[in-house]
Amino acid sequence: MEKSVLDAMMRGSQSFVDMNMLLVAAGRRIAKLTQNEAAYITPGCASAITLSILALRELDSSKSKDEVLIDHSHRIPYDQAITFAGKKIIEFGDGGKRSENDLLEAINEKTLAIFWVAGSYVGDNALDLISTIRLARVHNIPVIVDAAAQLPPVSNLSYFTAKCGADIVLFSGGKALRGPQSTGLILGSSKIIEIAAKLAAPNQSIARSFKVGKEEIFGILQAIENYMEIDHVQQLEIWEAHCNEIILGLSKIPGVSGKKMELNQAGQPIPRVRIEFNEIFPTNIEQEIYSYLIESNPSIVLDFDQSLFISPDMLEIGEIRIVLIALKDAIAELVSNT
Ligand SMILES: *Cc1c(COP(=O)(O)O)cnc(C)c1O
Repeated sequence: MEKSVLDAMMRGSQSFVDMNMLLVAAGRRIAKLTQNEAAYITPGCASAITLSILALRELDSSKSKDEVLIDHSHRIPYDQAITFAGKKIIEFGDGGKRSENDLLEAINEKTLAIFWVAGSYVGDNALDLISTIRLARVHNIPVIVDAAAQLPPVSNLSYFTAKCGADIVLFSGGKALRGPQSTGLILGSSKIIEIAAKLAAPNQSIARSFKVGKEEIFGILQAIENYMEIDHVQQLEIWEAHCNEIILGLSKIPGVSGKKMELNQAGQPIPRVRIEFNEIFPTNIEQEIYSYLIESNPSIVLDFDQSLFISPDMLEIGEIRIVLIALKDAIAELVSNT
């Protein structure tokens, strides 16, 4: 979190407010900033999933819809948040590419919603969002997009809803937005969001446990204000320059080099550097270095996703040097032991 966010949290913590009024006012401001019809702050994106499903349950006048459709390739550990809302996950499709018919065959009178996961990391076997929404509309089924980590680009805050037509989109507040870790967002349909708000704290309703503090509301609001203000082109240039600095540093370690990757782990345009080792190193060198650096002082956790990566957006000024020195020492230590 940036200092301005912490300052906002401090101000929030020292003011007496009516929580419902604060949530409504913050929601209005976030909706305006992100160009959505409405916005609601939740305690994280996972709770935004549960709360959205609970709101759709309230809106289901038949009271018999208990299935949420998810494409086979969109199954993620976080989808358990749907089950937590008391609904069944119905997975459709297989390892291959999906057709419109696959979705149509899965839709029935018990379908409460379609849960669509955004991000290139889930692959492109699923039916695209536009077609999914078109078919869902015909059957009057709401579409929820989970875009928790799909920032940047900043335009994604309105892309899935205002542009593609999804009913709501969910984001994490503590990822690229750099707000409090314990915040998330529901953006989009005011009808769904108003119900979600009624179910959650401060109301004495079923989702009272979904409570965000006033500090967190002030914090995420400030973080979003900041995110809309940042020069994202310049930010990207800074990350690119940091990647180049990392690659140069890696090239000075014998047998090691760095390769710039344009996308982060979530498939978004935040560059990072993949650490590459030549054949003189044992095959498990990545695992060895990863474990060694966690135990070192200061403890360093590299991004380990088959290969090791150094992600500049996770480092403060001056920390690149610390990581490179620690990595060099780790390699010297591990190689002398083999
Ligand atoms: C991180 C993530 C979540 C959970 O977000 P929290 O804000 O930590 O609750 C949900 N879905 C996806 C796709 C995520 O990447």
